[in-house]
Amino acid sequence: MEHFTLEEWRKYVKNELSEPERELYEDHLYLCDHCLEVYLEAMDEEENSMPAMAGEDEFTNLIMAQITGGIPEEAAREHKELSNKESWFERLFPIAFASFMLIGGLVTMCREKNK
Ligand SMILES: [Zn+2]
Repeated sequence: MEHFTLEEWRKYVKNELSEPERELYEDHLYLCDHCLEVYLEAMDEEENSMPAMAGEDEFTNLIMAQITGGIPEEAAREHKELSNKESWFERLFPIAFASFMLIGGLVTMCREKNK
């Protein structure tokens, strides 16, 4: 069996191959553990050489925001709790209102019976 070199797998990872070539590489990958390892190595290299580590930057920014913006973060949390209470109130209000009307109706009925 003929194997592909690391250089060839790099091309595959970087999408520098034509469609028939890609298929050939993929077919071989299913059959060959050796090339799978080489392919994974090429993948690792490619990931490490990625110029824009966007995810990492985002993570750093998030940490920095938490360090430098400690107080606004706290305020935001309080606001969130407050709006949670509001939504609870909004949810319970119709139930409370219905109960109030029911009790009011029963009281009225009782009074009319006693007349
Ligand atoms: Zn192989």
